[in-house]
Amino acid sequence: MQTVTNRQLFFQHIAQTSDFPLGLEIERAEGIYLFGQGNQRPYMDLISGIGVSNIGHRHPRVLEAIQQQLDKYLHLMVYGEYVQTPQTQLAHALAETLPSSLNTVYFTNSGTEAVEGAMKLAKRYTGRSEIISCFNAYHGSTQGALSLSGDENFKRNYRPLLPDIRHIRPRNWADIELITSRTAAVFMEVVAGEAGVRVPDAAYLQTVRQRCTDTGTLLVFDEIQTGFGRTGTFWAFEDFGPVVPDIILCAKGMGGGMPIGAFISSAEIMSVFRNNPILGHITTFGGHPVSCAASLATLQVIQEHKLYEQAEAKGQLFRQLLKHPAIREVRGKGLMLAVEFDSFEVLKPVIDRAIEQGVITDWFLFCDNSMRIAPPLIITEEQIREACAVILNSINA
Ligand code: PMP
Repeated sequence: MQTVTNRQLFFQHIAQTSDFPLGLEIERAEGIYLFGQGNQRPYMDLISGIGVSNIGHRHPRVLEAIQQQLDKYLHLMVYGEYVQTPQTQLAHALAETLPSSLNTVYFTNSGTEAVEGAMKLAKRYTGRSEIISCFNAYHGSTQGALSLSGDENFKRNYRPLLPDIRHIRPRNWADIELITSRTAAVFMEVVAGEAGVRVPDAAYLQTVRQRCTDTGTLLVFDEIQTGFGRTGTFWAFEDFGPVVPDIILCAKGMGGGMPIGAFISSAEIMSVFRNNPILGHITTFGGHPVSCAASLATLQVIQEHKLYEQAEAKGQLFRQLLKHPAIREVRGKGLMLAVEFDSFEVLKPVIDRAIEQGVITDWFLFCDNSMRIAPPLIITEEQIREACAVILNSINA
């Protein structure tokens, strides 16, 4: 009898979203490494499963927290009815990391759902319908979040999407004027990830903040990719001077490998979900107790080891080592980096060869001439040197 391989099943039964999936078969993961079958060499995960494994894969503290919660309870009840300790402890810990106005947490299962919830919240709180986001922004793939995303190519064949969405040019001062008293909210990534890691001026973000305040518009920072230590501070916005959003979104690295997201705002803003109608936003699984337990452990590990402080120095080491005539620029902040090449045609073989040599990188949704480097924050200096040697080798090959 012929046995069907998992690889064959993957192509038979798993819905494909491109004709060229990576198709790596991983049996186990630990720290910055993914292990394939048998004696294959391990892969270094230099992209953290796309911005997720900030404290590495299967961190022992996360495993322990999950195990302890497994012994207590899994799902108990839909969101917001029962007092569940993993949720309350995590919400408290999140609030402690944020300015006092951001003290009320709504848990979701993913980043996209945090975006969706925040869009509803902003419309309901302001009574306005227009929402502004940036060209080349990525905020998720469901219809609301996709409407916000700033790339026409991804949207064209899914229209009609949400009405009253307007895009501004990122980091463009003139377009700030487009934020008016009609605007419910401005959604902005603090550092734009899928656009290829674009870092704004502090003065730009502060001016957007001021304009939102002047027009009664809510400022929403999408920190789904940048939060939880990635850019050198716990939240990326902390490093841009006095610029506090009205709503902040997180997910990805927040769960330490478990699915969870959140939108966080003030008690006053969040209170609108309580009436007219009651249950203004509902989820069955949002804030799953096991995910919350994993997330709290993740947050504590990042803070206890001040992993965000290490992110900056480690990012600098990458910049120092990745010098080559084929590399046009290394951009970014902390351990959220983009290495720019002349074109996708130059970059793609470099990525392929690096994977063959055991180093996983990637490109960006809206920037295909740049290599994504966002390793777990626990990566060591020695591992960075090893990874960079492989990347440079892959350029020269
Ligand atoms: N916002 C940003 C900035 C993101 O990078 C992503 C995911 N790449 C999302 C939202 C959507 O998150 P999720 O895939 O968890 O739904």
